[in-house]
Amino acid sequence: MDKNLNDILTRKLAREKAARKQAEAILEQKSAELYELTQELKSSNSQLETLVNQKTTQLKGVFENFIDSYVVMDLSGNVLSMNDASVELFGYGAKEDLNVARLIYKDDYAYAMESFKNLLEQGFFTNYKARIFTKDKKIKWVHINASLIYDQQGQPTAAQGIVRDITESHKNTELIAEQKMKLSAIVDNSTIPIVLTQEGQIVQTNPAAQNLFLYSEEELKNFLVKDITAPSKYKASNDLMTKMNQGLLDQFEIKKEYLQKGGTTFIAKTNVIAVRNSDGSIRYQLAIIEDITEKLKNERERKRLLDSLESQRQKYSNIIANMNLGLIEVDNEDQILMVNNSFEKMSGYSEEELLGKTARQMFLTKEGQLKVEKENERRKEGASNSYEVVAKTKKNQKRHWLISGAPNVNSFGEVTGSIGIHLDITELKNLERQKEKLLERLERSNADLQEYAHIISHDLKSPLRSIWALVNWIKEDNIESFDQSSLDNIALLEGTLEKMEQLISDVLSYSRAGSEVGESITLDLNAVIEEVRGMIYIPETTTIKVIGTLPTIEADKARIHQLFQNLIVNAIKYNDKPKGEIQIWATDTPTHNQISIKDDGIGIKKEFHEKIFKIFQSLQQDDGTSSGIGLSLVKKIVSLYGGEIWVESEEGKGSTFHFTLRK
Ligand code: ADP
Repeated sequence: MDKNLNDILTRKLAREKAARKQAEAILEQKSAELYELTQELKSSNSQLETLVNQKTTQLKGVFENFIDSYVVMDLSGNVLSMNDASVELFGYGAKEDLNVARLIYKDDYAYAMESFKNLLEQGFFTNYKARIFTKDKKIKWVHINASLIYDQQGQPTAAQGIVRDITESHKNTELIAEQKMKLSAIVDNSTIPIVLTQEGQIVQTNPAAQNLFLYSEEELKNFLVKDITAPSKYKASNDLMTKMNQGLLDQFEIKKEYLQKGGTTFIAKTNVIAVRNSDGSIRYQLAIIEDITEKLKNERERKRLLDSLESQRQKYSNIIANMNLGLIEVDNEDQILMVNNSFEKMSGYSEEELLGKTARQMFLTKEGQLKVEKENERRKEGASNSYEVVAKTKKNQKRHWLISGAPNVNSFGEVTGSIGIHLDITELKNLERQKEKLLERLERSNADLQEYAHIISHDLKSPLRSIWALVNWIKEDNIESFDQSSLDNIALLEGTLEKMEQLISDVLSYSRAGSEVGESITLDLNAVIEEVRGMIYIPETTTIKVIGTLPTIEADKARIHQLFQNLIVNAIKYNDKPKGEIQIWATDTPTHNQISIKDDGIGIKKEFHEKIFKIFQSLQQDDGTSSGIGLSLVKKIVSLYGGEIWVESEEGKGSTFHFTLRK
């Protein structure tokens, strides 16, 4: 063999030997390293195992002691595991088969399904709030956050959820919401205007406030408090607000004038209350407004009324104190409560002596006491009236009192006593008695007089008749021997006798007119006129005309005859015209028949219009037929029938006599 080849082979071998040795050394080293590594790995493995164990225990502890419920379930909702809190919340045992669908409250089913869908699609859901059924059918409110659990390939394998029992807090929230609702219902429906402000800006108002200010809620919200406050109150209002902001005040009251929409104003009492944040800063102010415009007006009106009442009271108590009438106020037991000055004077007793005493025992006679007792009974029924009593004064003088009593009534309408106004009528009574006596005497003397006149006139007639007969005899016996002048004197004597006879007849009928009134019968005055026509002398130159129809009356025939006869005779007698006309007519008045007799004779001067109706008033020169009694007799008859007589006349033109007779 080639040496070279040998060499080459030897060197190659040597190289291979060396390489192998090196490889062996490396191997040895590597295996030593490996060994070390294995040892390290072993130890770190066991460390890791301890760590894992440690962590698992820790996690288990956390999982079990987790205050919220923690549930792991598969994707169909079957619970795989849950912690103690879940067991307690749901009432199901940890090992019991449970699908979460069993927990769902029926009304929340749709919401639960929706959330589950979200979990599957998005991988989680949060803030799920709904009710669940526990095993023993209790309803609980829960809050759930859930998420999916994925494997290494990123595939969802399970889901976990943290469930919190919010039943209590939910109840509280509901309660708060309800209270809030109630509160706002109260505020909204309150008739008291309420305004909420923040830093002087109106933020909320209730309808009562809107009504008061006449603005809408929106309009008010644009305002500052200042905008609805009358300028005069800016400062006062501001000062209080500042104090409130400084924390010096929590509440204040201010009376101020507010401005309404349209420029009108009102005055209100405002109560401002601060609602503060926990740091003491003001959150908002609550203003409760009470419109007192009416109240003030009423107060002013009340004051005005009280003032006027007081001045009236003053006025009346002055009147009462000084009036000439005695005033006394008693209670229902007749005890005197009040007397005025005049009553003290009337009774002679002082106020001290009278107060508290029984009125009737103080001044009345037995008879008077009975009367007052009766009156007091009527007073209690509310009646008022006047009556007379005989009273005794302190000096034991008898006086006549006219008492006008009225019940005293309190504001409930109950009779609390009575008020009596006393007038001393003793003098009046005396006068009345005197008058009665006088009248009696007058009547007596009148009757005497009439009788006297009757007797005189009657008795005068017979000597007159004797003279008349004697004069006639003398005249007849001496008719031949008497000269003309003696015959004239005899004629004069006869005329005077005739006049005297007439006068006596007239006086007789006048004296009768006042006393003897015959029976009243129905009289047709038209017929009366016809009869009178037949009884008196009517010259051919005189006509008597009845205009219309005269009424029918009830009266004594003789008197009515006399009445018409006297007036018609005068109308004929006192006429100077060649032809005379007398007119008679009647006028109806509600109470009387009025008759008028008109002539166109000589008339009567105005100054005699009254005088002619007085007795013995004749305006005529002595003509032998005028006694001046005719019209006075007419007047007497007219007044006997409740009527009047008067004349309308103008001298030279005629007279109209009108008279009335009561129906
Ligand atoms: P006598 O007629 O007796 O005088 P009277 O009482 O009848 O009394 O009348 C009083 C007076 O009234 C008369 O005197 C007469 O002057 C006047 N007189 C009465 N009637 C009329 C009459 N119709 N016209 C004018 N004067 C009259």
